[in-house]
Amino acid sequence: MRRDPVTAFVALGANLGDPEQALRHALAALVQTAGVQLLQASSQYRSAPIDASGPHYHNAVAAVSTTLSAPELLTALQTLEQQAGRQRAQRNAPRTLDLDLLLFGSARIESPWLTVPHPRMWSRAFVLLPLAELAPEWVSEQQLQAVRQQVIERLANGPDALV
Ligand code: ADP
Ligand code: MG
Repeated sequence: MRRDPVTAFVALGANLGDPEQALRHALAALVQTAGVQLLQASSQYRSAPIDASGPHYHNAVAAVSTTLSAPELLTALQTLEQQAGRQRAQRNAPRTLDLDLLLFGSARIESPWLTVPHPRMWSRAFVLLPLAELAPEWVSEQQLQAVRQQVIERLANGPDALV
């Protein structure tokens, strides 16, 4: 059954190989996914790994319009991670590509493999800053204040640089 399109927000992260290219490719692949249309992409950010060592991450957030269900979208994101050569080693291990589903319309989902809104998004500057570019209504000043100690820089590319 065809559903009405839902606006979803996806976090993109990479810290191995060429992370900037990885995010570009991921976005290009995401928009080629059936049932997914890109609405907007944030700037890229560069952030220090949290609770882990390894190279800095590049991060961004994409707003998409999708006719997929949330579990279908998660599966599509995991397929793209695999295609980017992601190895699932230990938790918080460096990765060629991490795609997290942040928000799916106003849905609240709690299943063993999918929690939406993403449970850790509010504690991560690398999610909140790019998300605030696209959807300021989802990010409060207080939430931004709470992550202000985290090491992150906005890269000198415009909002359209990823697309
Ligand atoms: P993280 O992104 O937190 O570093 P992973 O990318 O390795 O961790 O994801 C671990 C698991 O988290 C996935 O297998 C997936 O089933 C689950 N998960 C739960 N909620 C979400 C979500 N909103 N977006 C992405 N993965 C999620
Ligand atoms: Mg993930």
